[in-house]
Amino acid sequence: MRYEAPETVESAAALLAGATGEARILAGGTDLLVQMRSDIVDPALIVDIKRITETRAVSEDKGGWRIGAAVTGAELKEHPRLKQVWPGVVEAANLIGSTQVQGRATLGGNLCNGSPAADSVPALIAAGAVATLAGARGRRDLPVEDVMLGPRKLALTKGEFVVSFWLPPRLPRSSDAYLRFIPRTEMDIAVVGAGVSLTIDAGGTITAARVSLGAVAPRVLLVPEAASAIIGGRLDRPAQDRLEAAARAACVPIDDKRGTVEFRIQVAGVLARRAALIALDRARSV
Ligand SMILES: Cc1cc2nc3c(=O)[nH]c(=O)nc-3n(C[C@H](O)[C@H](O)[C@H](O)COP(=O)(O)OP(=O)(O)OC[C@H]3O[C@@H](n4cnc5c(N)ncnc54)[C@H](O)[C@@H]3O)c2cc1C
Repeated sequence: MRYEAPETVESAAALLAGATGEARILAGGTDLLVQMRSDIVDPALIVDIKRITETRAVSEDKGGWRIGAAVTGAELKEHPRLKQVWPGVVEAANLIGSTQVQGRATLGGNLCNGSPAADSVPALIAAGAVATLAGARGRRDLPVEDVMLGPRKLALTKGEFVVSFWLPPRLPRSSDAYLRFIPRTEMDIAVVGAGVSLTIDAGGTITAARVSLGAVAPRVLLVPEAASAIIGGRLDRPAQDRLEAAARAACVPIDDKRGTVEFRIQVAGVLARRAALIALDRARSV
């Protein structure tokens, strides 16, 4: 196995493009190293992206925020401003594993591991995040909801990797929230996850919203019908009921030892409603 740690995006892309056999990006390694030790993957080339400045930076960009793909959850939590603007994204990244795991686990790794239950992905999709990809043919942007196609299947072409995520500019009175259900208090995979981002006007009416659900389909879902159910109102009880119904209608979950189909569908509605109420409460106070 060959290990490389390039210092530029271009040299990483060139290494990946020239690879013979399986090549993998290494970010925090909290999925990749576990999979290698369990003989699930056996890459011929590992490209560690943590020495590339762009993948490790958090900065303001075009009125929004750019977060490097190899920034960890712990680093996001310690950022002085990000938590105020995107509390849902930061809280989702900080539900991943334990304190130790959060010191390694990155947003790029969470997305590119290709799990429908990945915690930061519904929050990123609700935020309207766009992934910037790089490969041998240059760079391109892709909305996060279009990156994952199914379990372990990504829309990235051979040799492409995620350099960073761009979170769009925030209007006043906007906020977000992420909630997940797990059978214990921490260190478990989401049985259901729900991310909601919304904006209200000065009178408290919701003018924009995005709702995303994790672990209820082969990929993390953007659910426009759930957003439409709450836009134009003040999230009163009938709107909450419509939101719950739309969230449930979008679910096509699996049945496994951690949750039945019926349970996951029920919980998806409940979490979408609760996340929307938290996001609304936060939007009122920013
Ligand atoms: C004890 C434990 C608890 C965990 N708990 C949770 C949890 O609660 N919630 C949760 O969602 N996950 C959890 N995980 C899974 C894991 O920690 C997360 O998915 C994490 O975000 C992965 O990030 P990483 O930087 O460690 O990725 P890595 O392991 O470095 O990479 C993961 C995969 O993505 C690829 N990759 C990484 N970065 C990029 C990139 N920029 N572009 C293209 N491909 C890339 C790698 O090649 C690899 O295939 C847990 C893992 C452990 C070991």
